[in-house]
Amino acid sequence: MDCLTEIQGKQAHDPIFIEKMNTSASWRCICVPGPLIVGAGPSGLATAACLKEKGVPSVVLERSNCIASLWQLKTYDRLRLHLPKQFCELPLMGFPTDFPTYPTKQQFVDYLEAYAREFDIKPRFNETVSQAEYDATLGFWRVKSVGVNGKGTEYVCRWLVVATGENAEAVMPEMEGMGEFGGDIWHTSLYKSGEEFRGKRVLVVGCGNSGMEVCLDLCNHNARPSLVVRDTVHVLPREMLGRSTFGLSMWLLKWLPIRFVDRLLLIVSWLMLGDTARIGLDRPRLGPLELKNLSGKTPVLDVGTLANIKSGDIKVCPSIKRLKRYAVEFVNGRTENFDAIILATGYKSNVPSWLKEREMFSEKDGYPRRPFPNGWKGESGLYAVGFTKRGLLGTSMDARRIAEDIERCWKHEAKHRMAFTRSLLQQPSSDSSS
Ligand SMILES: Cc1cc2nc3c(=O)[nH]c(=O)nc-3n(C[C@H](O)[C@H](O)[C@H](O)COP(=O)(O)OP(=O)(O)OC[C@H]3O[C@@H](n4cnc5c(N)ncnc54)[C@H](O)[C@@H]3O)c2cc1C
Repeated sequence: MDCLTEIQGKQAHDPIFIEKMNTSASWRCICVPGPLIVGAGPSGLATAACLKEKGVPSVVLERSNCIASLWQLKTYDRLRLHLPKQFCELPLMGFPTDFPTYPTKQQFVDYLEAYAREFDIKPRFNETVSQAEYDATLGFWRVKSVGVNGKGTEYVCRWLVVATGENAEAVMPEMEGMGEFGGDIWHTSLYKSGEEFRGKRVLVVGCGNSGMEVCLDLCNHNARPSLVVRDTVHVLPREMLGRSTFGLSMWLLKWLPIRFVDRLLLIVSWLMLGDTARIGLDRPRLGPLELKNLSGKTPVLDVGTLANIKSGDIKVCPSIKRLKRYAVEFVNGRTENFDAIILATGYKSNVPSWLKEREMFSEKDGYPRRPFPNGWKGESGLYAVGFTKRGLLGTSMDARRIAEDIERCWKHEAKHRMAFTRSLLQQPSSDSSS
């Protein structure tokens, strides 16, 4: 990707730029015969493909200049799928058989590019949706988008599919003394590799999968990482008993109650990893699967970070009290020097910032109010795909359901459209009757 296109891609994620474009835009109007899908990540692509298979054409709008912008623009180089490939396939097309169990980020992007080609999905790039509202008088959604050149377009459509993802915007925590810190403070969405931190003292804030993996990457590049652990966390081996931990859990859940499976996972983890509390990683009271079900909090699948914590190559630190010039004071009163801080503090949905609808989506967190598996459908032709906190598996389920639902309406309305057209054609014209 050349420099200009990368800058354009990043501008599309900048709220100040969007606001500026929004106010200066001159609007044109486009009527979309089928559904309009906002977002060309895996969820948007999966929905467009399922619709296409059912003969329903759709339009996909994407704020970036590429598909799967999260994966292409905002993830680190060493990233692989966290889950085995069979749990990450999109509907209707599997991964190539020669892909490894955990495809690399580039392989996953290649797969998505091939997927878009297979189903002839051509998103309209550089279009940031800034507002969408249901017009009850018309019975249609009015969706406004702004392009990088400030050109505004209003789309009018019968069905609106929200596919902007759970990771649309980076979460940046407020910390006392943030402006004072002399080194770089980056969110993981900007982190590419530990290469640029060689020899430096780096504090990684957040101990989810990304934080843990960034620490490992920093170690592998001879940086000196420390990890802030503010909360309890379940760390499980990525594989146990010769199978992927995720696959094994899914299989066991078919036969056994969730609490029993949790117990089993924790016993095997203890045998393989030891007592994580002894290295500063306390486990939550609830088991990993029960916690995931109740709160959406994903367990960390260890890919080698734990060994580095045990060996002392990664230090575990408590919560931050305040930042100083090139140092951090922790809540236990200790102060340590750091050259850079990486915030592995996650992402949030951006839906409340553009969707003028308060029934289906919560204003608080930008997720559908109804819990899985019922959050995919709202009123007046509004749908949500990929907000299940269940990764690509949840995406596939949503996409199939949405396509089936829209297909029913599409066919029903097509019958009416055809009957209406036929009646027009069959009506004797005034010329022939005279
Ligand atoms: C580091 C990392 C690793 C992960 N690994 C896995 C894994 O192994 N397995 C798994 O199942 N899940 C994984 N996930 C979860 C991940 O969220 C999904 O895999 C997937 O990217 C979700 O797809 P999506 O299309 O719903 O969202 P996204 O991939 O975020 O796509 C949403 C798209 O919408 C666009 N968009 C947003 N707002 C607007 C707007 N206003 N107008 C127009 N376009 C907009 C964005 O630019 C983006 O391209 C991982 C996530 C991260 C961050």
